[in-house]
Amino acid sequence: MHVRPVRFTTLPAGFSIMQTLLSEVPGLTTRIVKMLAKEGIEKISDVVWMLPFRHEDRRRVDAAAFQAGAAPCSHFVRVVKTHVRFFGRRRGAGVFEAVVEHVDGSGLGQQLTLRWWNMPFMSKSIATDMELVVYGRIKEFKGRLFMDHPEHEIIRGGDDDDAGKIHTGRITPVYRLRGALSQKAVRTAAWHVMEMLDDRFIADLLPVPSDKGGFAGWHRSRALHTVHFPAVIDELETARRYLALEEFYVCQIRVVRRRRSAIEAGGKAHAGDGSLSHAFLGALPFELTGAQRRALGEIRRDMAACAPMNRLLHGDVGSGKTVVALAAMLVAAESGSQAALMAPTQILAEQHFRTARQWLAPLGVRVELRLGGEGGEPVFPPPDILIGTHALLYNRAALQNLGLVVIDEQHKFGVAQRARLIEKGNTPDVLVMTATPIPRTLTLTLYGDLDVSTLDERPRERGKIVTKVRPRNKAAEAAAFLREQIAQGRQGYLVFPLIEESEKLDAAAAKKGHEEWTRLLEPHRVGLLHGRLSAEDKEEVMRGFRAGEISALVSTTVIEVGVDVPNATVMYVHDAGRFGLAQLHQLRGRIGRGSHTSYCVLFIDEADDEARQRLAIMEETDDGFRIAEEDLRRRGPGDVLGRAQSGQAPLRFAELLADTRLVRIARQLAERTLDEDPRLEAAAHAELRQLTAEADSPHSMRQ
Ligand code: ADP
Ligand code: MG
Repeated sequence: MHVRPVRFTTLPAGFSIMQTLLSEVPGLTTRIVKMLAKEGIEKISDVVWMLPFRHEDRRRVDAAAFQAGAAPCSHFVRVVKTHVRFFGRRRGAGVFEAVVEHVDGSGLGQQLTLRWWNMPFMSKSIATDMELVVYGRIKEFKGRLFMDHPEHEIIRGGDDDDAGKIHTGRITPVYRLRGALSQKAVRTAAWHVMEMLDDRFIADLLPVPSDKGGFAGWHRSRALHTVHFPAVIDELETARRYLALEEFYVCQIRVVRRRRSAIEAGGKAHAGDGSLSHAFLGALPFELTGAQRRALGEIRRDMAACAPMNRLLHGDVGSGKTVVALAAMLVAAESGSQAALMAPTQILAEQHFRTARQWLAPLGVRVELRLGGEGGEPVFPPPDILIGTHALLYNRAALQNLGLVVIDEQHKFGVAQRARLIEKGNTPDVLVMTATPIPRTLTLTLYGDLDVSTLDERPRERGKIVTKVRPRNKAAEAAAFLREQIAQGRQGYLVFPLIEESEKLDAAAAKKGHEEWTRLLEPHRVGLLHGRLSAEDKEEVMRGFRAGEISALVSTTVIEVGVDVPNATVMYVHDAGRFGLAQLHQLRGRIGRGSHTSYCVLFIDEADDEARQRLAIMEETDDGFRIAEEDLRRRGPGDVLGRAQSGQAPLRFAELLADTRLVRIARQLAERTLDEDPRLEAAAHAELRQLTAEADSPHSMRQ
């Protein structure tokens, strides 16, 4: 396929017009340059990336009649007269009115009254005969038309009379303002900057994507010009998609490079003979689901190959990832290598250890739990399977003959640890497991260097979960209900939120909750679990809960991931409004693990309408993928990706839920770039560095 030549070859090496100061831009007045500088906007790139959040079609503003309606609209008007009307004696209580007509009023002769309430000082800035562009909603009252507190720009007649052509007679960008910036100043700057930046100056980042994605005829310069000053509205979306494709491309270059270097590092083939894994699966009290079988097949195939495996196994809570992981670890053992399983918390490591020992010891497999970091003599004979927290990464002795590493709950770990492990010299097969259902676009963007297996089918025979959002004053009723459940032999979780980023304060809140619930549930035993407890105390509490000696467990979010007590059927989450949807879904996954119906109640502040609306989806569905998408939609990708995203280029144009196809195109382009043209890769790399440096930039095209 043809690759578009880099177009900046005519410019001196290292020259970047984007770093040029605004004072060098022809046509920009010192006044505007200074105004922008006060807000830290100093270079050409600052203006280029200060993206409009809306455009107004001002090509024919004067032709549309004033009309009352729900949608805001813009008009180009001239002020006919103004006055202030005061009412009452209180100073400032009054309304400033400006009666306006269309600038080209011929034929229409309509009048509109602009009103600013309690802002009599407006009379100082708006005067008869000025020309304004106004934007707002028009209402009708007793046959007259009004627009209250319109957004407005003085086009002619103010203290700044330049360049009417920039602000009217075209599709006009509207920028988000901060500090003392005015719309006109920002737009004027954008205009002159974009005038100056012709195609020669803006090098393409993408190899031309040919006709894929509908980008024929598009290049970076056109996209950037269009984003600010589009010739037609329809082109805005193509420009956004083009720039989104760039963002994905930059991301994919990194991902594909990482993937390739992992493969080049070379690994070992781990083709088991099935002796252990088949015995294990045969002894399970259940059949694997179709999804589990498929995932295990994919893992076996990867492990049998020489290239190291890099696979993400994701599936909703309760989809049965642990069994798949254990089978994979047995494949490693069959081929004479060690396998390690790393859990995000000690509680989980211990739980995995118990499960593994229970199932694997009868097969003669040696399983060992390692909780400390460095130190500890190598055990002889070495275990087949090591289980621990990520402290295992620092335990050289433990990682001798490592064939497979399983990392549980990836979102707590991060990509960095995985990289560290691979750096350590051995290139084991890596299986990453996460219970956060990740929408497809995100797996490609974030985990694009991993192959993906999805457990999209749940084991049968699981109890139903009924979820309700309730005001917090229903605690007494809730206690009565929990007592009933306990009387039937069930157990419950009482979750207290993260109040601050402080384990100490969280622990204090949980302790208080513990006292309260101990009283409410008397004489049943109520346990307490939080991050400040010693490892032994935690384990003792969990043991008591698993054994049914403790009826209810007051806990901070330490139980969030993976804890498996099938007899627990009730979960009350206090202050649920403080939790994200994905996190609540994780928490809720702790119940509904047995055959009994389970009940999850999310307590919120009565007055907290935002929380009520947001959490409604939890009542509606227990499909983790739907919840994850809703989360993404509500919070935007930055929050959902959380720390995983930091250090990565910001996604300013990309719409993660909608742009799956673009991610795929970007992937292909990145593969091709790395195959064919290292120069383009270097350009993408430089861009990535620049974008990452600008990651904190507040400008965004998304609203
Ligand atoms: P995850 O880690 O995906 O949340 P687990 O691996 O902890 O889920 O499995 C949840 C529960 O389901 C465990 O008790 C496990 O033994 C059980 N389980 C796993 N696979 C199956 C299956 N195919 N059929 C029935 N139960 C299963
Ligand atoms: Mg799990």
